[in-house]
Amino acid sequence: MCVLIVDDSSDATRCLQSLLTARGYPHARTAASGQEALEFLEAEAAGEKKIGVVLTDVDMPGLSGIELCQRIKAAPHLRDLSVLVLTGNTDEETLERAFAAGACDFIAKPVSPTELLARVRSAVNLKRELDNCKARERQLVEVTQQLERLNAELHRLSILDELTGIANRRFFNILFNQEWGRAARAVLPLSIILIDVDFFKNYNDHYGHPEGDKCLARVASTLSSLTRRPGDCVARYGGEEFVVLLAHTGVRGALVVAETLRKSIEELALEHACSAIRDRVTISLGVAAVVPERGYSAEQLLAAADQAVYQAKREGRNCVRAFQGPPEEARATGRGERRASSGLQA
Ligand code: GH3
Ligand code: MG
Ligand code: MG
Repeated sequence: MCVLIVDDSSDATRCLQSLLTARGYPHARTAASGQEALEFLEAEAAGEKKIGVVLTDVDMPGLSGIELCQRIKAAPHLRDLSVLVLTGNTDEETLERAFAAGACDFIAKPVSPTELLARVRSAVNLKRELDNCKARERQLVEVTQQLERLNAELHRLSILDELTGIANRRFFNILFNQEWGRAARAVLPLSIILIDVDFFKNYNDHYGHPEGDKCLARVASTLSSLTRRPGDCVARYGGEEFVVLLAHTGVRGALVVAETLRKSIEELALEHACSAIRDRVTISLGVAAVVPERGYSAEQLLAAADQAVYQAKREGRNCVRAFQGPPEEARATGRGERRASSGLQA
């Protein structure tokens, strides 16, 4: 670390420079005025910063040592420099002004070599400490930012389905529980639409699994593009099954949405040469709605929607059916056994 000596007396700068050079500071630089010192520091700040300590005389023509100190402390790229003032005038007022300007220490003239070296050494140490602190701070900011990025990515991965990019079942379960509670408190209806792609096993068998994946992604993005109201959520429920949650929506509204979804998938006209009912990909949809009350559970609402899908399958597929009857009578169908263990509780 280098020291910059600032004094209008060339004898003084030469003497201080040789003292410091002889005692471990071989790269001490000099400036003949406050202005020259500032220009030197500015030029240096743009490149590799070597000066860490400024040792300045107080009384100089032009910019005084105290003004130089003020300028250094006011410049964000220079303010970490340690400034030591040299003064023959050690009265309270001068010292107070020097410290108020940001000087870290003072050296009384005539200069005692021992005192000079001791004070320069502690100013150098102070600057090193400050540099270390700043470096640690920068590291901490970097690590924190990295952690924030990773957390955001982790959060994204934990709520999104990798294949389709829409919400996954985990996210759906969380949202469903929240909306169930909200609907119960507000005494408002809540609807579920369960969706199952028709003859999808045949699709995979005929076009191959990778094409099956692409087909699921197309179906998912179409479904999610059509349900954008706040409180709506489309999630991949598993395999070739999707679920739509419609907050504040009763069975009539849900039936309208379900029919729109059914039609849109049909109109996508994704070729399906091995469907027994159509020449394209179609879906079967089951709707169930309820105003959550004591005795009903979110699980029962899902079972009701599941039963409705089962009915849609039985009655020809590519159609919408609503669960008829009170949700407490809903039972998971044979095809929905897996759902009965979805872990949902309300
Ligand atoms: P149904 O009309 O009765 O629903 O008949 P289906 O063939 O669609 O029903 P089934 O449950 O017999 O088959 C579902 C198929 O979905 C079988 C499975 O290989 C396929 N599948 C599930 N998940 C994925 C996936 O992530 N990618 C692909 N490509 N296929 C999947
Ligand atoms: Mg299925
Ligand atoms: Mg299916």
